[in-house]
Amino acid sequence: MLIVKTVSVTPFEQNARVMTDDATGAQAVIDPGGGVKDIIAALGGSASRLDFVFLTHAHMDHGGKVEELLSRAQLDGRARPKLVAHVAETRMRAGLREQPLFFGLSAGEFDTVPEPDIYAEDAMVLTLGSVPLQLFHAPGHSPGHIVLYFPACDYLLERTDWDDEERGSGPLLFAGDVLFAGSVGRTDLPGGDSAELTRSIREKIFVLPAETIVLSGHGPNTTIGREKKTNPFVRGQ
Ligand SMILES: [Zn+2]
Repeated sequence: MLIVKTVSVTPFEQNARVMTDDATGAQAVIDPGGGVKDIIAALGGSASRLDFVFLTHAHMDHGGKVEELLSRAQLDGRARPKLVAHVAETRMRAGLREQPLFFGLSAGEFDTVPEPDIYAEDAMVLTLGSVPLQLFHAPGHSPGHIVLYFPACDYLLERTDWDDEERGSGPLLFAGDVLFAGSVGRTDLPGGDSAELTRSIREKIFVLPAETIVLSGHGPNTTIGREKKTNPFVRGQ
């Protein structure tokens, strides 16, 4: 079973996700933008079983503490976990400390992101412990945005402030800032492209099964079916 915990991080209330495959103990974190202490707590007090850090895209609220988490894992006796991200965000990773200045925040809260150990490619398959997952390149909110798809798994989504605990079996999609419940990612930041975002949602996300639970970078969970029917930004796409 895949256990998913959500840790809200940074003033942007980004949903960092902590995942554990309870069959093997293998763990992964998606988008550690901040809150490393809380993320470590959600991992069970140590990063010693952390296999992967996935970065959907290199905005500060998603990537600002990648380096600190990787370093912490090494302190906890783990060989450096694999950072997985897309090659098209190299410049954004290197320039991450400039992003807070646009929002009136201090640069010191966020770290530059190192280059990935694994460059994500569209339709790449990886395994977290015993659980297979697939990556898709879904640009538009940012040029190298990736989403993570777990095609079939037993899961436990732990309760957050806004969702009840949910147990089930089926597909999960970690959508980052591509698709939200009732909304889509903004495209006015550098590297954004609204036509590309619409294409990504239509060709990479809306082709997934309707029952797929969507866990977004901000806000509550939704499903593909619900967004296809009701999302005013992409309805009928
Ligand atoms: Zn973003």
